[in-house]
Amino acid sequence: KDDTRFPYVLQCERIKIVEEALKLAKAHPNIELRLASTFTGFAQDSDGVTARITNAAGESESLRGAYLVGAEGARSIVRKELDIDFEGFTYPDRTLNVEVAFDFRKYGYTERNYISDPDEWSNLFHWKGPPDRWRIHFPAGAEEEAALMRPEALQARLQKFLPTGKPFDIVASNLYVVHQRVAKKFRVGRAILAGDSAHVNSPIGAMGMNSGVHDAFNLADKLTKILRLEAGEEVLDRYERQRRHVALTHTQAQTIRNKRLLAEKDFAVRQRNHEELRRTAEDPKLARAFLLRTSLIESLREAEQIA
Ligand SMILES: Cc1cc2nc3c(=O)[nH]c(=O)nc-3n(C[C@H](O)[C@H](O)[C@H](O)COP(=O)(O)OP(=O)(O)OC[C@H]3O[C@@H](n4cnc5c(N)ncnc54)[C@H](O)[C@@H]3O)c2cc1C
Repeated sequence: KDDTRFPYVLQCERIKIVEEALKLAKAHPNIELRLASTFTGFAQDSDGVTARITNAAGESESLRGAYLVGAEGARSIVRKELDIDFEGFTYPDRTLNVEVAFDFRKYGYTERNYISDPDEWSNLFHWKGPPDRWRIHFPAGAEEEAALMRPEALQARLQKFLPTGKPFDIVASNLYVVHQRVAKKFRVGRAILAGDSAHVNSPIGAMGMNSGVHDAFNLADKLTKILRLEAGEEVLDRYERQRRHVALTHTQAQTIRNKRLLAEKDFAVRQRNHEELRRTAEDPKLARAFLLRTSLIESLREAEQIA
């Protein structure tokens, strides 16, 4: 509580955050929202950037601005047009996401659960409700997608997770691939990357959006200073130094470690990991350091020290 005004985890559906952000954007006099428009490419020169879009009516349009922030997610056109490498790796195993109408709290689960298991690790989240919807993630190997997604196969997995003896009410399911990648550069001239266009990571640890929001705060502060003539363009290089450092040494490092912790197969290593977790939970000093790291507060403090 001495480190942040928000000493808790806020867990909510992503759409709620989008709705709040939309409200703020609509109310801001300097923001012109263009929904249902597709960004198709851009060109830059020494004075500014021209973005090409296909607008809601299906017409091509050009928009001129001083800077372009590519915040269009992992498949970023800006990153690709700048020919920036997206360095890292993709996990060979996929993740199976099953959405269930059920209240797992009745069985002792909390709102967020990370379950370590040498054969079948899983994550269980109270995703929304009422009516209650929970999401369970399981590792998925090389099996055919159709076989993995068969209703009987999903039910069997859920029964193995929690044997209720009754079929679960499965609302949805999908398979996704997990990448651990960071763009080699976050900026070329007047085009800058932020959020998933600059870095992607495993959701284990809930850091992707959080670190993207930190990019946005950092970058907005610097762009505002440039536009008010209070700073030169070199502050954008500091943005890259700060946020790329955080992506590599905090978000990537922690999410890779989280996945390894959950899936560890070696009995002795598992025991060591669990003992360390127990020790951390019991020792207030270690627990505070753990929370500062996992909440990314430490990453912000470290980034502040980067010139
Ligand atoms: C299963 C799962 C669970 C997750 N859980 C968490 C969590 O608990 N906490 C957390 O912090 N993170 C979590 N993440 C990560 C988080 O979802 C992402 O890091 C975050 O959404 C990235 O935000 P973004 O705005 O950078 O990109 P995106 O969310 O991908 O948004 C990009 C937007 O740009 C739009 N767009 C793309 N291309 C174009 C174009 N050409 N023209 C116009 N628009 C375009 C897209 O439609 C989209 O609206 C999770 C991810 C997954 C897969």
